[in-house]
Amino acid sequence: MNVEYKTGAPEAEDEPEKPKRPVMPAMLRGAAGKCPNCGQGSLFDGFLKTTHACEVCGEELHHHRADDAPPYFNMTIVGHIIIPALLIVEVMWRPALWIHMALWIPLTLLLTFVLMRPVKGALVALQWALYMHGFDPDAAEDLPEPDPAAGMR
Ligand SMILES: [Zn+2]
Repeated sequence: MNVEYKTGAPEAEDEPEKPKRPVMPAMLRGAAGKCPNCGQGSLFDGFLKTTHACEVCGEELHHHRADDAPPYFNMTIVGHIIIPALLIVEVMWRPALWIHMALWIPLTLLLTFVLMRPVKGALVALQWALYMHGFDPDAAEDLPEPDPAAGMR
């Protein structure tokens, strides 16, 4: 009796190719707050709330699971800008501590708020471009949202 073994990723042979979604243009559209699919419709329905579906092309955008990735990347980016700038200013001019406080705290807050939307948009677009979560038409239905009051009953 012969047993056949398949090698490689199972989906590599079995599933038909999905159309390629270029990652970089999609992320740039998302960072600009536009739909990653058409670049016309708005990605956001509020400051950080994503729209259910694009009003121009109809692409469903509610499937994203950005979760805490945007704040993580936002902190990483802001930290890599503010900390070197702070160190350069300290080494070159050695300003008083109150000047550091007056300069870097508002600048950190400002940069964080300015980058929130572009970073979230880029990450939602990345998930779209990589067919992650519900953006994959072959994926199972999205899991239902957990009921926050379930533990209190
Ligand atoms: Zn669209």
